[in-house]
Amino acid sequence: PPFAVGLTGGIGCGKTTVADLFAARGASVVDTDLIAHSLTAPQGAAMPALVEAFGPGYATPDGALDRARMRKLVFDDPDARARLEAILHPRIRAATAAAALAATGPYVLFVVPLLIESGSWRERVARVLAIDCPEEVQVRRVMARNGLPEAQVRAIMAAQVTRARRLQEADDVIVNDAGTEALLPQVERLHAFYLDEVARSKTA
Ligand code: ATP
Repeated sequence: PPFAVGLTGGIGCGKTTVADLFAARGASVVDTDLIAHSLTAPQGAAMPALVEAFGPGYATPDGALDRARMRKLVFDDPDARARLEAILHPRIRAATAAAALAATGPYVLFVVPLLIESGSWRERVARVLAIDCPEEVQVRRVMARNGLPEAQVRAIMAAQVTRARRLQEADDVIVNDAGTEALLPQVERLHAFYLDEVARSKTA
């Protein structure tokens, strides 16, 4: 498999913003959220197994996953959550591996919001890159982007690993607490570093 970096960060920290900057420099970006979404879109590869496991009531008329209904079910039913994850995770894993093999860039950048939370990602990537920003900045950005009340943003953050834990697990960190210009030198430096690592891994 190609040299792979796992990009993670809390909600609203700027994962997509930073991933786009790496993509512009030639990295092959594989967004696991997009892949998870396509698996549960109409005709998505996970839909037959989900309907089989949960019943046709969990599909919308056009054959996509009824996300609102599923969210409600798994919210306070850990057993249902485990069944959902048992269907989705292996498929996400296979689809992301296939996307990585098909990638044409010098290295692959997996965007994985819950990388630290989901364990098995750590062994699939050579480097973990955390996008970091203060919690107040997260709250402000997500309130502005999604029009959510502060309490709801904080509830989502409370379900994710702490900022400290993420920083502890990361090999590389990009600080995103100012304007987007402040990201450019950080992205340039790490992109050059990853290209060096790719070259080293080829001669090793
Ligand atoms: P999510 O976890 O919700 O998918 P994310 O980590 O991918 O979020 P982005 O979508 O990249 O984060 O950024 C969140 C919001 O903050 C977006 O509206 C984005 O335009 C804005 N944003 C990100 N970084 C900056 C920045 N440095 N300056 C100003 N706005 C920013």
